[in-house]
Amino acid sequence: MKSKTIEGASGEYGHLDRRTFLTVTSAAIGLGVLGESLFGNLVYADALTKEQRDKMTPEEIITEMKRGNERFRKGERRARDFLKEQQASAKGQYPAAVVLSCIDSRAPAEVIMDLGIGDIFNARVPGNIANSDILGSMEFACKAAGAKVVLVMGHTACGAIKGAIDNVELGNLTGLLAKIKPAVKATSFKGERASKNAAFVDAVARKNVELTMAGIRNNSAVLKELASKGTIKIAGSMYDLETATVDFFA
Ligand SMILES: [Zn+2]
Repeated sequence: MKSKTIEGASGEYGHLDRRTFLTVTSAAIGLGVLGESLFGNLVYADALTKEQRDKMTPEEIITEMKRGNERFRKGERRARDFLKEQQASAKGQYPAAVVLSCIDSRAPAEVIMDLGIGDIFNARVPGNIANSDILGSMEFACKAAGAKVVLVMGHTACGAIKGAIDNVELGNLTGLLAKIKPAVKATSFKGERASKNAAFVDAVARKNVELTMAGIRNNSAVLKELASKGTIKIAGSMYDLETATVDFFA
């Protein structure tokens, strides 16, 4: 069994499990002497261990993601030590979640949820669609590597969504956009159904996240079973480029 040494902390904090540490977090802030790291973890100075990850429920992991986004948009990001995280995770990784998001340069999952190295698996593709390769990646992340949350994250003003609405054709992109088009069709919307209408674009993006979540369940027996047992949670969210808020669906 692994336990972690806490830098700058007194011995009594040396073997805290994650649940215990959560209860002392505010005290730790007050002391101002403890190392800082991942997932809202103010006590440990390095990356997530298997023991820590396995003790967290899917709901607790989502809560930590929400808190991380709150820190990000308040400008209170942790002063993390990426080299320590890199060193601590070099021989093994125990990510808590797999995030499927868009390649958009303005929506990097770790940054906008204030996460560190080793915290999440990260799949990025325009329009955050899930094809069989992405599903295989999620199956590996959850069934083989123990991640407990599948988070699909769309975002506002998404170029891929606009491209699908406009029937853009460009090389291999044409086939990718075809995977988003069912969301365009399925979006009920009063107003102009055009890519120049930001409200429509965002409504389609949200519907696209919902359909992607449904597709994950329908097309992956592995993930569906894990979700039905409560081992994992399949969650959806939208990132607002203007407000920096990740809006979780539930
Ligand atoms: Zn996008």
